Amino acid sequence: MLVVLKPGTPESAAAGVLTRLRMAGLAVHRTEHDGRVRIAAVGEPGAMDWDDVAKWPAVESVSKLARPFKLASRAFHPHDTVISVGRVAIGGVQLAIMAGPCSVEGEEQVFTIARAVAEAGATVLRGGAYKPRTSPYAFQGLGEEGLKLLRRAADANALAVVSEVMEPQLVGLLARYSDILQVGARNMQNYALLREVGHSDKPVLLKRGLSNTIEEWLLSAEHVMAHGNRQVILCERGIRTFETYTRNTLDLNAVPVVKELSHLPVIVDPSHGTGIRDKVAPMARAAVAAGADGLIIEVHHDPDRALSDGAQSLRPEQFVELVRQIRTIAEVLGRTV
Ligand code: PEP
Ligand code: MN
Repeated sequence: MLVVLKPGTPESAAAGVLTRLRMAGLAVHRTEHDGRVRIAAVGEPGAMDWDDVAKWPAVESVSKLARPFKLASRAFHPHDTVISVGRVAIGGVQLAIMAGPCSVEGEEQVFTIARAVAEAGATVLRGGAYKPRTSPYAFQGLGEEGLKLLRRAADANALAVVSEVMEPQLVGLLARYSDILQVGARNMQNYALLREVGHSDKPVLLKRGLSNTIEEWLLSAEHVMAHGNRQVILCERGIRTFETYTRNTLDLNAVPVVKELSHLPVIVDPSHGTGIRDKVAPMARAAVAAGADGLIIEVHHDPDRALSDGAQSLRPEQFVELVRQIRTIAEVLGRTV
């Protein structure tokens, strides 16, 4: 249920409402909008006589939060969430451009790519150190050594860092090196991992699962938020369909749909969404035109020798050209890069 308090309700009265709802066994989460405290009361709504709650002096209105996701819904939190990561704000007017290699492969590689993407206009460096690979014989990542290199390369170029965490036990380690914790497509419904990142104070980049609906994706965001971490960035990265020409089918419908349903920022990954280098730029442009809050793009200076995802990695000069085009598209939409 959504309980909206009257404007100007004193803090003591608001706290009183929260306590009474809690005493009925409900979990309560609060936010503010238009000068009003808004409370999502979740759990067993039958525990309460809501007609009675509507008459409490501090209460302006009581309504049902109709969607299964509550904290992630726009009904609970009407304005866009903007997530600050150092000097980067994700979800605001400025588009978040995240770029870097699929995997951190070594010092020279990550420093070369970090410099190139920073010069092109990226503000966040991506790079996996713990890689979810379909084959157990494929390169699995450099682990903590990779995270150290990624952090140093980012710091040398004033970039923030996003890197994937695959296991609940490694959330603490990732949080030491990375500014944003990436939950990969394969782990979108790993609830132990969602709980652990939900306890972290680092923003979470939650990729959509390969075969998950938008509602399931938002419910995974809800898991993270219900554990206390409201800083969730959603990432559309393509879904599995009958089409096999491209690696995945980038579901750009999801961008305007999620922007309506949720206040969370949505970014798009056209690299995994297409799997094909020369299809990345057109889909990146389309994603921005569709209203995405940013992009995450794989870039490699020597993609033919990349240890993972070389075929979908842009060369630095292609990335420079893409960012130039994105700037023009952003301007039409009243946004910046
Ligand atoms: C990645 O970002 O390199 C990655 C493995 O992405 P996804 O989880 O979307 O497949
Ligand atoms: Mn990859």
